[in-house]
Amino acid sequence: MYNFASGPAMLPKEVLQQAQSEMLDWNGTGMSVMEMPFTSDEFQSIATQAHTDLRLLLDLPDNYHILFMQGGAYGHFSLLAMNLLGKNKQADYIQTGHWSSRAINEARRYGDINIVASSEESGFDHIPEQSKWNLSNKAAYCHLTSNETADGVQFHWLPEIDGIPLIADVTSDFLTRKIDVSEYGMLYASAQKNVGVAGLTIVIIRDDLLDQSMKITPTVFNYGEQAKNYSRVNTLPTYSIYISGLIFRWISDLGGLDKVQALNKEKAEALYTAIDNNGQYYCAVNKTDRSTVNICFNLKNQSIESTFLEEASSLGLINLKGHGARGGIRASLYNAMPKSGVDALINFMQDFSS
Ligand SMILES: *Cc1c(COP(=O)(O)O)cnc(C)c1O
Repeated sequence: MYNFASGPAMLPKEVLQQAQSEMLDWNGTGMSVMEMPFTSDEFQSIATQAHTDLRLLLDLPDNYHILFMQGGAYGHFSLLAMNLLGKNKQADYIQTGHWSSRAINEARRYGDINIVASSEESGFDHIPEQSKWNLSNKAAYCHLTSNETADGVQFHWLPEIDGIPLIADVTSDFLTRKIDVSEYGMLYASAQKNVGVAGLTIVIIRDDLLDQSMKITPTVFNYGEQAKNYSRVNTLPTYSIYISGLIFRWISDLGGLDKVQALNKEKAEALYTAIDNNGQYYCAVNKTDRSTVNICFNLKNQSIESTFLEEASSLGLINLKGHGARGGIRASLYNAMPKSGVDALINFMQDFSS
């Protein structure tokens, strides 16, 4: 069985097996991780280890905090605006698909939102090139979505934005490739796409951005308060943090971000080549902006799409249906998807078309 879901999504088998073996008794404590007080030494050692491993994976500079929070990336569309628009109420947003559109709609409740560039008119099939951006140059931050999970569009370059912190929703490509965090003011990601299970939202934020929250910001969602309190203002999503910790270890053991980036590139290239070389399928996304993790494509004959999905499913290739807003087929190839899964999908696509 290969699960191509966009999230919650496939997890590494080794991680699930370790979680299973430790389910009833973590490290001789006689407790499941789920049963530990979040203030206990045992849980704190788990959280600290996850923290340290993530710092190492990202080669994180000292002036960045890692916050383990809740609310989901969708929640943080509002929360980041509350946390960052307390002094200057203006923000720049790049609109590249379903999720950045949602981020814009939420932020509008808290400040003046300037849409710097949008690919909406062409159905979110590309990332607008920077020469066409209309930056305000006076915003509190500039927001982008590094990978549009529903649309299959991804940033493969870093915009140059002088003096204004860049904020990125990295939910669906976090730890799927190398990233230079020092280029960003803040990154955030829900865990359940590529780095764990639902419940945990990871926020990575530079310390100079921690003092500009709006007064209405709830304490438990105040980045500055959480940073001061090691994310323990209230109960953290303890089990989700434990699972993400196992995944950070798994990625390190694989060889780190360089290695997963190379593996993910290989998987994506194989699938895009299969789509482009077969007259029965097409991918509407501009070649240079295609996502390496959420591969969205269509059958030229739409009327057989449901047959395609049913037959794939009967062969154990599951959850290939595209996002509701977009339709078509979507194969999510996160870190846990082995190359053998992609090969099985490609074989099926060839058999289906002949
Ligand atoms: C899934 C997703 C979200 C929403 O995540 P939730 O955990 O459901 O809030 C936001 N942004 C991107 C890019 C996503 O892929």
